[in-house]
Amino acid sequence: MKTVSIAIDGPSGAGKSTLARSIASTLGYLYVDTGAIYRSIGYDMCVQGIDVKDEAAVVARLPEVRVELTYGEDGLQHMLVGGEDVTERIRTPQVSMAASAVSAYPAVREYLLEMQRELARTHNVVMDGRDIGTVVLPDATVKIFLVASAEERARRRMLELQQRGMDEPFEKVLREIEERDYNDSHRAAAPLRQAEDAVLLDTTELDFRESEQALLRLIRERTAE
Ligand code: C5P
Repeated sequence: MKTVSIAIDGPSGAGKSTLARSIASTLGYLYVDTGAIYRSIGYDMCVQGIDVKDEAAVVARLPEVRVELTYGEDGLQHMLVGGEDVTERIRTPQVSMAASAVSAYPAVREYLLEMQRELARTHNVVMDGRDIGTVVLPDATVKIFLVASAEERARRRMLELQQRGMDEPFEKVLREIEERDYNDSHRAAAPLRQAEDAVLLDTTELDFRESEQALLRLIRERTAE
């Protein structure tokens, strides 16, 4: 079966996951949140008390980590670590920073590559992340690079954390966003960058509906769906 894949990359907080999930549901495609996979690895390291800055220790633990991606009856992606559902627990600021650290290690990226490609081989997918258009699915049907200003992304992220009952000051959220931007775009292994054939979409001035419409238009133009 020839599958369709929509690759959505961009920095933290650009709205990738909310938009990708909604678009996948509109198109009837599977939504794959690859950040959640890196978060699960980061979470496991935190639980094991492993220093995520220690590459050798992270790589040594890797073969023991049992990460699984499943789809619940709700149709949503769930992450299991060691058989336990960690979908909610991987959303804390601590796990965000751990995910950003472990994702810089080539062995971690290599370990997760096949899992991501297999999903796109067997399903029509909307997959979001940092290197989907450049590394994971270089032949994706449509590639989109989603951006927004750091301040706007921090504002959205703060609201999202508030909805989860975590109140964080704006300055701290902004600093963490900028730190993750720096880590993600300066690492040697699969850094965050726009693929040459990706379409740039800036959502700083767009609300959710407008961003969604703009994305669907781009996808429909390119897939004739
Ligand atoms: O997208 P999200 O913020 O959940 O991703 C968490 C972290 O995982 C990112 O900061 C990034 O370092 C890493 N990541 C990655 N490659 C991907 C997806 C996420 O390196 N494809």
